[in-house]
Amino acid sequence: MPRRVLIRSLTLAAGVLLAACGAPTDLQLEITGPIMGTYYAVKVARPPAGLDAQTLQAEVEQVLKGVIDAISTYDPESELSRLNRNPSTDWVAVSRVLYAVLAEGQRLSRLSDGAFDITVGPLVNLWGFGPQPKADTVPSAEAITAARERVGYDKLELRADPPAIRKQRGDIYIDVSALGEGEGADRMAAYLESRGATDYMAAVAGTMRVRGNNAKRVSWGIAIEVPDPENREVQRILPLTDSAVSTSGDYRNFFKTAGKRYSHHIDPKTGNPVEQRLASVSVVAPGGADSGRRADGLATALIVMGEARGLALAEAQGLAAYFILREDGGFRELTTTAFARIDAK
Ligand code: ADP
Ligand code: MG
Repeated sequence: MPRRVLIRSLTLAAGVLLAACGAPTDLQLEITGPIMGTYYAVKVARPPAGLDAQTLQAEVEQVLKGVIDAISTYDPESELSRLNRNPSTDWVAVSRVLYAVLAEGQRLSRLSDGAFDITVGPLVNLWGFGPQPKADTVPSAEAITAARERVGYDKLELRADPPAIRKQRGDIYIDVSALGEGEGADRMAAYLESRGATDYMAAVAGTMRVRGNNAKRVSWGIAIEVPDPENREVQRILPLTDSAVSTSGDYRNFFKTAGKRYSHHIDPKTGNPVEQRLASVSVVAPGGADSGRRADGLATALIVMGEARGLALAEAQGLAAYFILREDGGFRELTTTAFARIDAK
């Protein structure tokens, strides 16, 4: 175990001990529920006057419904699903909410040299990782070639004002699942801010926004789990405040056939699931508007790029990123300089 981790674990243990000895535990609202085939969770410490758990839950669910209505490919009536069915190759107006997510997708494509690509949908669906359940089989080479022809972020044009998109082919299919958790976390955070909350944690599965401190008046302890579906253990706990954090992994959503493992992360260049030793990538970004979406997308971009290219990009961009590699009988960690700085706190 590296020294700094040991020191930090001790600090945490000391914090827990202090709490047990009567350190203050303030009021904290906690809610959770299902969303996007996974769950959301919100904690608000020292909630603003007038906010109770029931109101919080009703309002958070309303906010999340707005996200689903705009960007879900699982809801056939969402704005994005209707856009995907629209074969027009003219400019089509889109909502500001959807536009912002698409624009972030395109930005990440350029940043990652096409490893991240929201037009990858036909391949995601072909490999059985889309909204339609599918048998765990490897598609034919012909089917992959045909789907690849529909994929490419350069086949999608965006116009900011008024927000609109233009498809180069009528059969472009957009999938922003890699940004969905972050978008959900960001919209919940914006709602909490509007309510006057200053100390909160808002998560959709592995992507969250944190601000202020928890009920014990210390940073939120954000757990990064061991990338093993059989075993929900904690690999590390990051003490965070005013940040977004997202973990993207291939250890939960994958299938195995003939002894081979196929991840839900697709390399748009080959049309196949990425094959590598990376089990998960976590990105921590400074908090602020849309930081959840950014961290979410970056984690996916880095995992698709793989350990060498991904780590190089993260280092060059000054990102706080934490990679967990699968190795015989265990895992190995790789971190960027910016991540080591957070971790050492
Ligand atoms: P998780 O948090 O479950 O690991 P991610 O945020 O990494 O999820 O998103 C994974 C989803 O992103 C896939 O299920 C698929 O819908 C989509 N996807 C797969 N490959 C790519 C890619 N190369 N670029 C953008 N999105 C992708
Ligand atoms: Mg992601």
